[in-house]
Amino acid sequence: MTEFSARTRAANLQRMRDEALDVLVVGAGIVGAGVARDAACRGFATALVDRGDFAGGTSGKTSRLVHGGLRYLRNYRFGLVRRAVRERDLLLRNAPGLVRPLPFLIPSYADRGPGRTLLRFGLFVYDFLSREKTLPRRSWLSPEEALEREPQITAEGLAGAGLYYDAWTDDSRLVLAVVQDAAEAGAVVANHVQVEGLTRKEDRVVGARLRDAMTGDSFTTSSRFVVNATGVWLDDLRSARSTSTIRPTKGIHIFVPRSRIGNRHALALTAKRDGRVVFVLPWGDLALVGTTDTDFRGDPNQVLPDVGDVAYLLDTANATFPTAHLGPEDVVSAYAGLRPLLRKGRAKAESDISRDHAIFEDRDGLISVTGGKLTTHRSMAEEVGGLLARRLGRPQAIVTRDRPLGPPIRPLEEFTDLGFDEESALHLQRRYTPEQVRRHLGAPSATERLVPARPHTWVEVEIAVHEEMAMTLGDVLVRRLGSFYETPDQGVLVAGAVAERIGGLLAWDSTRTDREIRAHEDLVRVHQAFRVDHGG
Ligand SMILES: Cc1cc2nc3c(=O)[nH]c(=O)nc-3n(C[C@H](O)[C@H](O)[C@H](O)COP(=O)(O)OP(=O)(O)OC[C@H]3O[C@@H](n4cnc5c(N)ncnc54)[C@H](O)[C@@H]3O)c2cc1C
Repeated sequence: MTEFSARTRAANLQRMRDEALDVLVVGAGIVGAGVARDAACRGFATALVDRGDFAGGTSGKTSRLVHGGLRYLRNYRFGLVRRAVRERDLLLRNAPGLVRPLPFLIPSYADRGPGRTLLRFGLFVYDFLSREKTLPRRSWLSPEEALEREPQITAEGLAGAGLYYDAWTDDSRLVLAVVQDAAEAGAVVANHVQVEGLTRKEDRVVGARLRDAMTGDSFTTSSRFVVNATGVWLDDLRSARSTSTIRPTKGIHIFVPRSRIGNRHALALTAKRDGRVVFVLPWGDLALVGTTDTDFRGDPNQVLPDVGDVAYLLDTANATFPTAHLGPEDVVSAYAGLRPLLRKGRAKAESDISRDHAIFEDRDGLISVTGGKLTTHRSMAEEVGGLLARRLGRPQAIVTRDRPLGPPIRPLEEFTDLGFDEESALHLQRRYTPEQVRRHLGAPSATERLVPARPHTWVEVEIAVHEEMAMTLGDVLVRRLGSFYETPDQGVLVAGAVAERIGGLLAWDSTRTDREIRAHEDLVRVHQAFRVDHGG
């Protein structure tokens, strides 16, 4: 794909007004993006819209893991884990630029964490469930071997450690790749378009009323089926229901300087406070620490990390890495997301709530899909695609299992040869093809960094606008580049310059440019409130 821009979006909105669709997918998180990709690959006339940006909801606020969920074995969820492990293996094979192997260490301590026998058995089962055996096998480390690999973890009470492999990704960019592949397969896609309501004929859903958030224009689109993939907002579109489908739980993450923790691998730690698993993941020179899991009853549009959430993660990291001495002032950034978990059964603890997915077909024909994980989106989408094929009277087919996703990995020199320093080249290698980068090298300061301390370069802003449908400053800084997460100012210092650049490309006037900058500053302010809470 080359152009995927504001112009593409405008043309797509016109098509949504003019053309009759087979399927309208509402919500471009990983689930909606996956459904649109599956449906378009089957040849259905498909459209995908999101009221915000792609991955602007939960899918852009994850632990960034593509994993089977080892911990669910504790609850004997073998089917769930097997499915996720197999989807992980498929993503490693089909999306090698986006999804990378990640070695994990699980330390076992006398006073916390899984016992040695249970852990060894769990890791055996985890390996066993992987059919493709793409990743190296697990091994068991003695306390000495564990300390050799992770010298900064506390030796006191260490009984050994399990070493195994899962995978990591950039969640927002994974969603973007799925959206772009859906478009490549023929889906008509637009971000910043809200479904205000569904249209019905004789009690059957026959389309939706859409509102373009960029212009304020509203219009109607007609579609034989509507798929509701709106995550924690699922019930907003379903006809009046007495009980809610979703029981959202909140999970937060923090980025801290990796040099302070000193972790070399990813680690799955056990929180002393409540025995929950907390990940410490390498992210370049940062470490990503998460997550929490607490019931959430507030407004899903206002979910933020608070002082207690941050303290819990810091305490857990400090307990295993005693020299880290991390405090709130060390946090580079923090973010929060809501898990769209299914309300069923009588699970008491948040972490016991089912991670299954479900597909609901309402009497008015609306199909809703939710639950699951970033990792399992493809197989969820395949199920929805199969259901749509039945309802549309089209043949059944498996269309995405072997389909490549995202850029293939190209040699680093192909990027350094374009004039990028090695760190920036490495950063680009995971995101783009050299041809894509070359197309925008004529832009001002293309090979220069936005800020000296981070690898992001100006060429990425150009690509975001021309080829990734970035429409706002937040689309660029938060989800396309991710620089929002990686500096303590969260992009505020470059916001003006980046907004000017985007504004030049998208013909913003000064009022719009100022509005974008203020919106970014506001976003940063609310994400830093946990510091103020702490009097810091
Ligand atoms: C803290 C945390 C960590 C996690 N970590 C992992 C992990 O490491 N690995 C993993 O596999 N899974 C992980 N998950 C689970 C995974 O993130 C979710 O299951 C998944 O992202 C849900 O995707 P979704 O598409 O259903 O929802 P969302 O991503 O929330 O997408 C729903 C979309 O619908 C849009 N929308 C809502 N209403 C409308 C409307 N009226 N019109 C148009 N658009 C609308 C929203 O803007 C939103 O973009 C994690 C979840 C959380 C919360």
